[in-house]
Amino acid sequence: MHWNILGHEPAVNYLKNHANLGKTRHAYLITGPDGVGRESLAKAFVKTLNCTNLQANQEFCGECLTCRQIEEERFPDLSFLRVAEGSKDLKIDQIREMQQTLALAPYQSNYRIVIIPDFQKATMGASNALLKSLEEPPSKAILILTADAKESLLETISSRCEVLRLRPSTVEEVKEYLIEEKGIALLRAARIAHLSGGRVGTALGFDQNQELLDAYDQALTDLEYLMTSRLRERLQYVEKLQQRKAASREHFVFLISTWLTYWRDAMIRRESTQIPLVNIEHEDQILEIAKLIRPQIIERILKEHEKALGQLDANVNPRLVIENLLLHLPLVKF
Ligand SMILES: [Zn+2]
Repeated sequence: MHWNILGHEPAVNYLKNHANLGKTRHAYLITGPDGVGRESLAKAFVKTLNCTNLQANQEFCGECLTCRQIEEERFPDLSFLRVAEGSKDLKIDQIREMQQTLALAPYQSNYRIVIIPDFQKATMGASNALLKSLEEPPSKAILILTADAKESLLETISSRCEVLRLRPSTVEEVKEYLIEEKGIALLRAARIAHLSGGRVGTALGFDQNQELLDAYDQALTDLEYLMTSRLRERLQYVEKLQQRKAASREHFVFLISTWLTYWRDAMIRRESTQIPLVNIEHEDQILEIAKLIRPQIIERILKEHEKALGQLDANVNPRLVIENLLLHLPLVKF
């Protein structure tokens, strides 16, 4: 039962097969959007390779010391290589250091495994350095990369990995999963599933973090207020964010990403009434906006939000970015 990774049966069966037949590859690449379960899948694979109480059908027990150590990321033969805190990319020095570890014999198991999440964040130098490990892999080493998409990596890297592509589940599937496997109440499960856009990891993140859920709600309420406000109030809103010290780059990224889901919903409602919305609790207002604002304008707003996120990523002054965004927001009367 423990693999139990929603919606990724083909990838799960594939990895189980590798573990079962002892035919592991030297490198895997798991791709898919954030929160879709890439790291969970990688960990489940590592557990299967190492569980001391492996059950029928390659099900790891999830309870032995090894399984727990892997879950908590303190198993001696497994390391994680992540972007350092405060940094935007994975550096060449980190790869070189990892390669020294990878070359050592495993400490207590059959493999020495390194998981490198979000390899699309690697610098060109780091990518080229990793190629060495892929071309001449140490005999007992397994590398597991994750990335948003295969296309984000050098072709020379992805072509040397077994690529497993994960897709988001449907909102309905996530909802069922939250109710049946996680015991979450129906209404809460429905809401979180919608917000997650079908990404289980994101859904579980929302479930465990009420503060995040509240902040998300607040961001949408703010957006509706801003749309009905004139420029002066909009600028005052930014001023207040500054005063509340809520004006960090991360907070602005969060705000704008949240607003983006709202505008995507508006676009969806313009085109169809069938596709479920992310922000289902705001459906009335979104429907209204879809009626009031022309699709070309919604499209323009979407592009501006995406551009703003890009600017924040490129270290443009957050206040300028958000003020510019609010300047171009249409004025709406609900
Ligand atoms: Zn176990």
